[in-house]
Amino acid sequence: MIIVMEADASQDQIEAVENKIRSLGYRVHEIVGVERKVIGAVGDERGKEQLQAISCMAGVESAIPILKPYKLASREVKPSSTIVDVAGVSIGGKEIAVMAGPCSVESKEQICRTANLIKEAGANILRGGAFKPRTSPYSFQGMEEEGLQLLDEARKESGLPIVTEVMNPREVDLVAKYADILQVGARNVQNFSLLKELGQLDKPILLKRGMMTTVKEFLMSAEYILSEGNSRVILCERGIRTFETATRNTLDLSCIPVIKQESHLPIIVDPSHGTGYWHLVADMARASIACGADGLMIEVHPDPVNAYSDGPQSLKPKKFADLIKNLKPFIELMGRSLG
Ligand code: PEP
Ligand code: MN
Repeated sequence: MIIVMEADASQDQIEAVENKIRSLGYRVHEIVGVERKVIGAVGDERGKEQLQAISCMAGVESAIPILKPYKLASREVKPSSTIVDVAGVSIGGKEIAVMAGPCSVESKEQICRTANLIKEAGANILRGGAFKPRTSPYSFQGMEEEGLQLLDEARKESGLPIVTEVMNPREVDLVAKYADILQVGARNVQNFSLLKELGQLDKPILLKRGMMTTVKEFLMSAEYILSEGNSRVILCERGIRTFETATRNTLDLSCIPVIKQESHLPIIVDPSHGTGYWHLVADMARASIACGADGLMIEVHPDPVNAYSDGPQSLKPKKFADLIKNLKPFIELMGRSLG
């Protein structure tokens, strides 16, 4: 339910409404970026008739049911686009965020060298997995805490904030100690206990779309994080599974304008996992910007042939620098700028 207060509603009237919402077992969400005071009441769908009675309270202009199944994620509730700030980099505004780095953190040399090179090329956030979700239990599983420590060293050396994946609720505190953004991987998009745990944090979350997730399900997953009180959610399209085998996944760029209409949350694109081949990444990065993405996540490795994971889709630093150089005028043509 969205409760719109009258323009001259007093603080006491606002508080009375908020207390009433809480007494009915609902959560109060302040809706920012609108002219008059708007309060979101979100909770168990079963008691919504009782909420409707709030429309009779003093100072209330109207109480409107939120029609979308995703409430806090919807543009219906918050018409203005959300901008997520990550250590000075803003995601969701005019600037395009570029997250780049290896699939996995492998050594100090590898991550620090990559960090410096991607920064020089124009990236503004360093990526690197320390906990890796692998299809086979016999594949490299990541360096875990040691990998997080190396990311921290790379951050100190390069000055770039870091994004890294958290795979289960047990490791949330550990990953949050190091990461500037916690990434939820495609395979965990519906790990609801993990999402709820991340909703308790005061850190941005990069939520990747699952390979079998519809846009509606994707936004419902974002809703899990938002409903727990964490409003700093960044979405990421990374390709879905279709009958096509020419690419690793089918990068669903049509979801960008759909999500932009449906939601106020920023959305970036990962053309590396989206295609599976380094030579397709530049074209799909350009296409992502053309359809309104707020940023990119690109895998870059100094020696892709010997990478522990995702070598075939990783760009060498020089190729990444060329990609950014060629993309820059295109970004400007779209009325945006490189962050
Ligand atoms: C990754 O970013 O390295 C990764 C595992 O991505 P996804 O969850 O999209 O497969
Ligand atoms: Mn990867």
